[in-house]
Amino acid sequence: MDLYSDVLVIGNGVAGMFAALNIDKKYKVILISKTKADDCNTYLAQGGISKAKNKDDIDLFVEDTMKAGKGKNKIEAVRVLAEESIKNIDILMELGMEFDKDGEDFDYTREGAHTINRIVHSADVTGKRVFETLFKEVEKRENIILYENTTLVDILKYEGMCAGGVVIKENQVHTIHSKFTILATGGIGGLFNNSTNRRCMTGDGIAIAIKNNIKLSNLNYIQFHPTALYERGSEDRKFLISESLRGEGAHLVNKNKKRFVDELLPRDVVANRIWEEEKNTNSKCVYLDISHMENKFIKSRFPGIYNGCKKRGLDITQKPIPVTPVQHYFMGGIDVDLNSKTSMENLYACGEVSCTGVHGANRLASNSLLEGLVFSRRAALDINKKIDKTSMINLKHKLEIEEAKSIEETNLKYVLDTFAKALGDKKNELINS
Ligand SMILES: Cc1cc2nc3c(=O)[nH]c(=O)nc-3n(C[C@H](O)[C@H](O)[C@H](O)COP(=O)(O)OP(=O)(O)OC[C@H]3O[C@@H](n4cnc5c(N)ncnc54)[C@H](O)[C@@H]3O)c2cc1C
Repeated sequence: MDLYSDVLVIGNGVAGMFAALNIDKKYKVILISKTKADDCNTYLAQGGISKAKNKDDIDLFVEDTMKAGKGKNKIEAVRVLAEESIKNIDILMELGMEFDKDGEDFDYTREGAHTINRIVHSADVTGKRVFETLFKEVEKRENIILYENTTLVDILKYEGMCAGGVVIKENQVHTIHSKFTILATGGIGGLFNNSTNRRCMTGDGIAIAIKNNIKLSNLNYIQFHPTALYERGSEDRKFLISESLRGEGAHLVNKNKKRFVDELLPRDVVANRIWEEEKNTNSKCVYLDISHMENKFIKSRFPGIYNGCKKRGLDITQKPIPVTPVQHYFMGGIDVDLNSKTSMENLYACGEVSCTGVHGANRLASNSLLEGLVFSRRAALDINKKIDKTSMINLKHKLEIEEAKSIEETNLKYVLDTFAKALGDKKNELINS
């Protein structure tokens, strides 16, 4: 079947939905998600969203982000992120998002490598609340049509321009023609044995970009979160124990109950120290201990983590949590400019699949949801400006289901080969860890 839309958005996380919502209501948007709508990493986010506390905090926010990123960040993108953080959080609240408050002000929390408390949150289920806020609005918008369980297998290309995408839905191939396409397909955690990510996050957008010679950057910048729950033998995605526990005073200790690292150092430093400590003590994990804090505080501030651990037989108000580093986030991705435009005409990328350069070599905690908001809105505003002057290409395209499925399989191979090359000698250690 051939479908037509002004804008095609691939991915229903924070980046895809916020992009769709910022496209002018007079344009038709098709929004697709690979599996169920809430099966995205956005839904899982715990800690919160970074935000400059006020105009005076912008420079320090930029500095913290650059330091965590080891100076490999694109400074102009980091400035945009910090400067537009206040406005984007305001827009999110206008859409109905509620953050925890301390009196009239936000209840700002802290995570590793932030010099001050500047993270807004909704208990420890910020991502779920962001998802619900945006999804409710998407459902209300008459110009946005959502197709769930619909997988993009390739983009349509005509003379170096993107003209839409080819998708598989209910075992049938559909061609979606569009003036502009936005890839918001998220991260790569599904390629790793141990990751906090949804298993369906297999870097599909990256594969499609590789195949179509779209510029990529920083493929070796993969973040390992220091503290995922250590569960012996489990093949599911790993349960994250948010950095904000450490921000609120939890201690990291080894099997001999000794502290061995400053818990608020950047993620890569803490993850490396944990790996070292595991080797030195011949253990598969270390422990994160918050049991010295008040029961009532733990349960009300971290209900998601408290209940998640309780379900697995662990009461975190009484016992330390076994933790170990696992794959968590991808700083590299499809290279984009400050308006999220890729190297291909009429194609944009935003959210985790893109590389705006804001994170450098190591993402500062809680900067990902913010990047998703700031840069997807920029993509949408840029498209709004250009769309009336852009015509639909309406490319003739026909593909049988077997061919489409074989493209999908090749995509996975492309992306695995590419990461294997990018990671070099560390490949086996990292992909299997
Ligand atoms: C456990 C956990 C906790 C986190 N906590 C925080 C936090 O506190 N603060 C923070 O800033 N960040 C946090 N992050 C990171 C952050 O949640 C993600 O980086 C961010 O949500 C990514 O948003 P996104 O819109 O790019 O992708 P996602 O939300 O992952 O959405 C990707 C979408 O793309 C779709 N898709 C993928 N491939 C295809 C395809 N081939 N065809 C069609 N659709 C496709 C998926 O179906 C999905 O809808 C956390 C991540 C995890 C995993």
